[in-house]
Amino acid sequence: MSDTDGMEGLEVTECTRCEALVDSRSRIVDGDGPEDAGVLFVGEAPGANEDEEGVPFVGRSGDVLDDELRDAGLSRADVRITNCVRCRPPENRDPNNEELANCRPYLEREIELVDPDVVVTLGKVPGEHLLGRDVAVTSEAGDIERVELGGEPRDVLICLHPAATLYDASQRDAFTETIAKAATMAGAEGSGQSRLGDY
Ligand code: URA
Repeated sequence: MSDTDGMEGLEVTECTRCEALVDSRSRIVDGDGPEDAGVLFVGEAPGANEDEEGVPFVGRSGDVLDDELRDAGLSRADVRITNCVRCRPPENRDPNNEELANCRPYLEREIELVDPDVVVTLGKVPGEHLLGRDVAVTSEAGDIERVELGGEPRDVLICLHPAATLYDASQRDAFTETIAKAATMAGAEGSGQSRLGDY
């Protein structure tokens, strides 16, 4: 895919591909974090808080993610976080297939430029979007699949969405374990293990 008009480096400076999202967004929410991060988290789409602040995962889900990153020996400043779709859908509905497809070239380019050791999908929508198949996130969380992304085969680690742990506390351990695995795969200090080749 090469349709990245409107993108400068890692930033989408203007885009009007999705009529409904142009109406519902306050701004485009680009990825956040180092341009050479070893871990790239991919969420679904910005919610109200993200739309207001212009940064992915700054609401309650973001707090869960931040806590787990810290426990895994990482901080928010060590990782990059982005979304499949960069504009808030109306009433926080899931992005539809057309919106996902419209935004995909930006995500592909971001993955290519950041060139992470591991791409972590947060929830069902990004899991299915990047793996191109149905994903049962609860049973597949922690699994790794090799997928062509950003121009080369990459390890994709399937993870629950942090919000799932807010709805159902019993999911928290699985979320914790997957984030710890991501940290290990990227060789985070304090994760106590070595790098990607171990997997
Ligand atoms: N949920 C997402 O999937 N993305 C965000 O940025 C925030 C919440």
